[in-house]
Amino acid sequence: MKRISCSGIIYKYVVYSDSSCIASVFTEEFGKLKLFMPKAFTKRSGVVKFVPSTLDILRKENSDLFKLYSHSPIAKYISFLEVADISIRLNLIFDIIDSLLPLDESYEYLYKLILNINQENVHKAIIYIIYIIFKISGTLPSFYSCKVCNNEIDELSFYLEGDIICDKCVGGKKSSTPISTEVNTILKALKSNSTYKSTVIDLPQEDKILQLFVEHVEVVTSKKLKSFKSFRELLFYL
Ligand SMILES: [Zn+2]
Repeated sequence: MKRISCSGIIYKYVVYSDSSCIASVFTEEFGKLKLFMPKAFTKRSGVVKFVPSTLDILRKENSDLFKLYSHSPIAKYISFLEVADISIRLNLIFDIIDSLLPLDESYEYLYKLILNINQENVHKAIIYIIYIIFKISGTLPSFYSCKVCNNEIDELSFYLEGDIICDKCVGGKKSSTPISTEVNTILKALKSNSTYKSTVIDLPQEDKILQLFVEHVEVVTSKKLKSFKSFRELLFYL
């Protein structure tokens, strides 16, 4: 087996007593992978989360695990760690990647979208990125037509356990979550790159869409997304 140099983002790790760790990494070439990092935490070294880095790795024979030889964060992406607006959103994005995408499959387009995040576009980028994660993982709900009557959603709709139901069909299903007309307009814009580019999204709208997306992830995986509670606590204070 040959050592490989690739670009990747460490988004999670578990530390062991000998100061080694197993990290979860999202790479450009191999998608999600598990990385063994010997002596990851010493006086001279640490692990930098969320910053795209150049990784020198080797796949262990007959194993899913890779071993890390070196990792150097790329300086121009240091804002991914230092700008709280970006890092709290990356935390949520990677929580969703961790929940919905399988190991060892390449998602170069998604990786590029993440590299393109900056302070100005991060509010819109997170919505588009999660939408793309739904698409490539085959979990995108049909936001645009009613599950019951099949009619196109025009204004208000409701989210009920993975399905979208129109205002007329929802009846007394009170446990459903309303999706407002303005949220539906943004969801529709996601279908076209040029429409989405010209769409303006404010913080309360971003929050509403992310609540809907997170509810959907939790329905699909039957697990709570831990990062979302802290995300919302920080959202309006940054
Ligand atoms: Zn309907």
